[in-house]
Amino acid sequence: MRDQILVLDTLQRIDMELSQLEKNLKEYPEKISTYESEIEALREKLENSKKTKEETIKSKSRIELDIAQNEDTIKKSEQKLFEIKTHKEYEALQKQIAESKRNNAELEESLLQEMEKLEGLESRISSEEEELGNKENEYNSRIADFREKIEELKVLYQPKTEEKKKIASGLDRDLLSIYERVKKRNGYVLALAKNEVCTGCNMNIPPQLFNEVLTHSRLIQCPNCLKFLYCEDELKSEAKTG
Ligand SMILES: [Zn+2]
Repeated sequence: MRDQILVLDTLQRIDMELSQLEKNLKEYPEKISTYESEIEALREKLENSKKTKEETIKSKSRIELDIAQNEDTIKKSEQKLFEIKTHKEYEALQKQIAESKRNNAELEESLLQEMEKLEGLESRISSEEEELGNKENEYNSRIADFREKIEELKVLYQPKTEEKKKIASGLDRDLLSIYERVKKRNGYVLALAKNEVCTGCNMNIPPQLFNEVLTHSRLIQCPNCLKFLYCEDELKSEAKTG
């Protein structure tokens, strides 16, 4: 029965390596896509700022045009004042001029706001460009590392599954299915039996059963946690307690 315990131990070790490989093969691509979406989000943010800048430039030009048109109108109206004959017409035109001037003052105010906005946008864009560049540098090299690791893991994975198959084929089918069940339930399938205690779950082992573990008469599972029990001399330095 020593042999079977050793086979189970080897199988367990390969299974752990395989599940670590599987875990990394799942996690690394997830990390890559996290980095990629973070870069994408920064790129989108920058694009939005640039779009807002374009819109602000357009709005600024429109205001400038309106101001110029208003100034033109005011100038023409002021010249017209000299040609007016009636007091009533004169007053009406003066009122119109005053309104245009008031209007322009408001436009000048908006123009100032747009200019300030533009200034802010320009500095925001340059800092966003810098941030994007830095993250791209940092993340692209990390992504390349992960891609490289994934390729390495893929190379390891196939031979490892072959190795598992080969070892599993040396085990009795029933034992293999018990192994899979115990593994699913406990993670680790072996437990050291010491002083009539299963070190896997710390429950007492009936003396008769403990004797059977010591004499290696057959494979014994802990009645409580179902792990396969071995005694101290069995796995030597390789022994692991569950
Ligand atoms: Zn136990």
